[in-house]
Amino acid sequence: MNRGYAGYYKSFYLRSSYEYAYAVYLDHFFITWSYEDQVFRIDGENYKPDFFFYDQSGNLEKIVEIKSRDKNALEKAKERLKSIEQQVQIKTELVSYEELLIIYKNMPVSLNSIITKWIASDKTTIHKAASGELNSHYGLKHSEETKKKIGEHTKSLWNTNSETKKRMIEGLRKSGLSQRGKIKTLRESRYCSLCSHEFIVMKTSARIYCSRECSGKVAIKLATDEYVNKRKIIHSEIKGYINQWTMENKDIVLATPFNKINSTIKPMTDEILRRYNVKDFRVISSAIFGVDQGRKELLKYMKKLCNENVC
Ligand SMILES: [Zn+2]
Repeated sequence: MNRGYAGYYKSFYLRSSYEYAYAVYLDHFFITWSYEDQVFRIDGENYKPDFFFYDQSGNLEKIVEIKSRDKNALEKAKERLKSIEQQVQIKTELVSYEELLIIYKNMPVSLNSIITKWIASDKTTIHKAASGELNSHYGLKHSEETKKKIGEHTKSLWNTNSETKKRMIEGLRKSGLSQRGKIKTLRESRYCSLCSHEFIVMKTSARIYCSRECSGKVAIKLATDEYVNKRKIIHSEIKGYINQWTMENKDIVLATPFNKINSTIKPMTDEILRRYNVKDFRVISSAIFGVDQGRKELLKYMKKLCNENVC
């Protein structure tokens, strides 16, 4: 709250040429700002900082206080901002003439010309704003609706041409405001790895499917494939064991009549149960033939194996 050339700019009653210069700078970089939104109670006194910044969700993100070059005022402002930082856990910044000079190095106009323009404007008055009551916004806080509008306005700016975006990004970076949720430029179009539908994602995203439905289908397929693979491995191991057992028990296998198969292969099926936890004969048969063929076919297979491998 500086005394100085106060006046209206964009319906806000600014209190000094420095504040005006700062507002012009923010506008140049399309940084959405608000003014004197909140009153803080510090050491028994009401304190109303100057510039308020919100993110797209309307959450307060940063407060900036503009100060003259008066040393005592600067020190006091520093302490107040520190206190605010502790109270509301947000960033604060003190901007005085020196900071404005730096900021204006990136502006197409000089700081002096802006200040001169403000002073000469018919919208400014000298020293009339000291009490604050003249301010049309005095005591007013931004309603949720207004904050929403600010967010939407920012969003709409982000959707404009790339030159505007470039300037906004540059401005946010310089002003120490986050770009969280504000940049929509780092997106790209991809094609779903399953259904080939086009979809848009952040470039940093690892997504390769267009939807939950597609990624779900793939997950089920992968799980099924894994199950099938496991079953294949077990089948081939069972087949290997049957072959091995058959060769080790060639004489018994060759001598077993087809009505006595169960007692002959019982030691083998017991071992298959122990080794592979497979009891179902249909599974054992499938391990040899791909499908269940019954006990008789299994004995035929075993006998054939013995005959083919006569030493
Ligand atoms: Zn898809």
